[in-house]
Amino acid sequence: DPRTQAIASTIRVVPNFPKPGIMFQDITTLLLNPPVFKDTIDLFVERYTGKGISVVAGVEARGFIFGPPIALAIGAKFIPLRKPNKLPGEVMSEEYELEYGADCLEMHVGAVQAGERALVVDDLVATGGTLCAAIALLGDCKKLRIHVEGLRETDERAGAEVVECACVIELPELKGRERLNGKPLYILCMRL
Ligand code: 5GP
Repeated sequence: DPRTQAIASTIRVVPNFPKPGIMFQDITTLLLNPPVFKDTIDLFVERYTGKGISVVAGVEARGFIFGPPIALAIGAKFIPLRKPNKLPGEVMSEEYELEYGADCLEMHVGAVQAGERALVVDDLVATGGTLCAAIALLGDCKKLRIHVEGLRETDERAGAEVVECACVIELPELKGRERLNGKPLYILCMRL
């Protein structure tokens, strides 16, 4: 699609951010260009309209930029998948590995019902760890921890069906696609 060229060209690359050696893909410059931002949303909306998707789950923080306009356009609800201790209600959480250490995503219990068809949205897939945790949280994979009156472990899960993950950018060298437990990944542009 010719629109993806303009999308790729508006994403600024910032060397050595947030640490030396990282080429940071900065989508804030895409957001400064309304026609290109609109094309970005439209490409996703065209793909997901009429697919029976009732849930769009956005990953903190940049999934909160792209997820809600897609959700509104396709008539789905929006669920924020947040970093730990941000959500006020009862949460389910899923930990995932980072290059150094671990991080965690949380979702409100009851936000999604078993059997709902879900789309996971983020700006970028690198190692795939974040999307893998999001898929698990929505209900496809194994263990989840439910925080109620402290921490207890259960094998309860939301039980939604993740139809696809959608990102603006893929860093294919990091092979994140291979960590998604077979879930399809749709991206608009690749960066080497
Ligand atoms: P992964 O878990 O796939 O290794 O990393 C993806 C997550 O890190 C996404 O939530 C994404 O927002 C963030 N991320 C990692 N590198 C970059 C980058 O260069 N640019 C942006 N915008 N986000 C990044």
